[in-house]
Amino acid sequence: RAAAGTGARRVDTLCPYCGVGCRIRVAVEGETIVAVEGAMGPANEGRLCVKGRFGWDYAHSPERLTRPLIRKPGAPKDPAAIRRGLDWREVFREASWDEALDLAAAGFLRLRAQHGPQTLAGFGSAKGTNEEAYLFQKLVRTGFGTHNVDHCTRLCHASSVAALLEGLGSGAVSNPVRDVAHADFILVIGANPASNHPVAATWIKNAVARGARLVVADPRHTDLALHAWRELRFKPDTDLALLNALLHVIVTEGLVNESFVRARTEGYEALVEHLRDYSPERMAPLCGIAADTLREVARAYASAQAAMIFWGMGITQHVHGTDNVRCLIALAALTGHIGRPGTGLHPLRGQNNVQGASDAGLIPMMLPNYQRVADPEVRDWFSRFWGVPLSDVPGLTVVEILNAALAAEADPQRIRGMLIMGENPAMSDPDLAHARAALARLEHLVVQDAFLTETAWLADVVLPASTWFEKTGTATNTDRTVQLGRQVRTPPGEARADLWILQRVAERLGLQWDYEKKSNTAPDDAGYYGVERIYEEMRQTMAAAIGGISWARLEQEGSVTYPCVSADDPGQPVVFRERFPTPSGRLKLVPAALSPAAERPDADYPYVLITGRQLEHWHTGAMTRRSAVLDALEPGPTASLCGADMAALGLVPGERVSVRSRRGEIQLPVRQDDGTPRGAVFIPFAYVEAAANLLTNPALDPLGKIPEVKYCAVQLSRVPSR
Ligand code: SF4
Repeated sequence: RAAAGTGARRVDTLCPYCGVGCRIRVAVEGETIVAVEGAMGPANEGRLCVKGRFGWDYAHSPERLTRPLIRKPGAPKDPAAIRRGLDWREVFREASWDEALDLAAAGFLRLRAQHGPQTLAGFGSAKGTNEEAYLFQKLVRTGFGTHNVDHCTRLCHASSVAALLEGLGSGAVSNPVRDVAHADFILVIGANPASNHPVAATWIKNAVARGARLVVADPRHTDLALHAWRELRFKPDTDLALLNALLHVIVTEGLVNESFVRARTEGYEALVEHLRDYSPERMAPLCGIAADTLREVARAYASAQAAMIFWGMGITQHVHGTDNVRCLIALAALTGHIGRPGTGLHPLRGQNNVQGASDAGLIPMMLPNYQRVADPEVRDWFSRFWGVPLSDVPGLTVVEILNAALAAEADPQRIRGMLIMGENPAMSDPDLAHARAALARLEHLVVQDAFLTETAWLADVVLPASTWFEKTGTATNTDRTVQLGRQVRTPPGEARADLWILQRVAERLGLQWDYEKKSNTAPDDAGYYGVERIYEEMRQTMAAAIGGISWARLEQEGSVTYPCVSADDPGQPVVFRERFPTPSGRLKLVPAALSPAAERPDADYPYVLITGRQLEHWHTGAMTRRSAVLDALEPGPTASLCGADMAALGLVPGERVSVRSRRGEIQLPVRQDDGTPRGAVFIPFAYVEAAANLLTNPALDPLGKIPEVKYCAVQLSRVPSR
């Protein structure tokens, strides 16, 4: 487990941040991490970005929760009080584990008995292991008795998964990032990998250096565009105009790969009919890209030997996110750029285990391995396998759950109790005033986390949990590669492993789990808590994906890419070579008409707000803002505006700007960034003192149920200095 070193132990595990899934080697003295370096994992081969290299000391933070907390009687759940520095002792008292767990479980049992199972819900985490995700959704489905279980994939790639399942029959990537080594054309659209998937960006840059053509399409200028053959800075929210124009050129200029389309797809005629109206000349004024450039890019993509498409939240976080992805699928299908090395579709996954958490069933409409809850045969199988009858009531998604928490008192569907493991919806969800009010209104909220997050601040019971460095388990990266991470240190004080906590809650809900008893390893040995037994059970439920990846194999090989169905199957990094896993075996083409954002700029709110991430900070900042180097590099919130807009507003860099939407207002310093388009402002959502999601729009994509956090209307004004 630990390699020989000079003083420090060295333990190989995985980076706790993005979906690239870099392998890291952690040097640890006693329980103190002293350094991290890149290890030779399949996704990184020793490379790391600044987060992986320096974002680890949050594990030692003095703000770590070390004892269970219980809300004091009468302590108000005041969403407005969410701020750093407020003394937790005013709101909580410390408790023993038995008292806290008894109280946590009793609240769920009482609500289930009084109001029924559909009044309970759970948010799991994409930052935990596959085993934690599997156990969490099993706990909610069998212990609570509801499919109201979801996690942050709803906020990032739900629309990708919806479109990919519809079109290809599989929600995961077709080719790994490092397949760019075989590509001669790469399209990156609505993604900023230089900030958000930096090691993936290095492989793309290497491909460009080798001679591949890179097209970066994004309303904002990003660092990767410095390496691009063409940069398409289209107007915000005009993805559908841009993509339909590219498809139009491919169809009308005879660039379709006809043998592929004939043999491997369905729906071609309807798509061709739809595309008649989308000439580059008609779309150019809408998207702001010259018709000649649209034609040039479409020709280059279609005529490439092997072309890959990468995308991120810029594509997905729209009310037409599913339609955006349908267009990307059509691009790959019409040109035959799928099913071969160096081709395909790659939605860049955000968190280090968002692929695995989704695979493990941490989503309301799917049991493990995307087996549909709505299918009675699937439900019957899992009911027998788990020994508990499963509900036939469809589950709610993230935003729907919080909406239901604010339903009328007499509404039988009102959500009254929640278990939240490692997520921070009081910072990450759209329209935060609404989301925080919903969390505050819950009659029983239990949060297990390493920190007293903005969400935990509203809890009735807080259970001190572990960081990534304190657990052994598997995670599945954006490439579909299942990797084993090792425990580096023990949790501080009385903080415990998440698997231990879930099993203690399950016991109190009356579930008969015996992972620890059956384990070959003593429960407290190195944080196992039956992890290998849980993995092996999960593997039985996901045989078509990971049936060939045993725990013993992971111990030996470290990582294997699924689908992998037998012990001698090496795994399949490139899929869809012969057929698609759809009922017909063909890729389904789905036309996507233009549709606008739910809230467009107008006279009252004339600017567009674009939210996103920065290189140095991770999501809601719970980890990176407690990492000294990262916090020093980006110590506070900023609103990025181009120089022309700053001049029009009378702003100079560093002055404070008020950003107001129909849902809230924040004030923060302004930063000049001429890569931000005219008429738009970019704000990262990691900062509680200027929480960008106070402003965002919760309008949902109808299929993916993803909120439109990438686009809403705001007004800007200079804040007079005091
Ligand atoms: Fe971690 Fe992603 Fe950076 Fe790799 S690229 S070190 S996985 S944050």
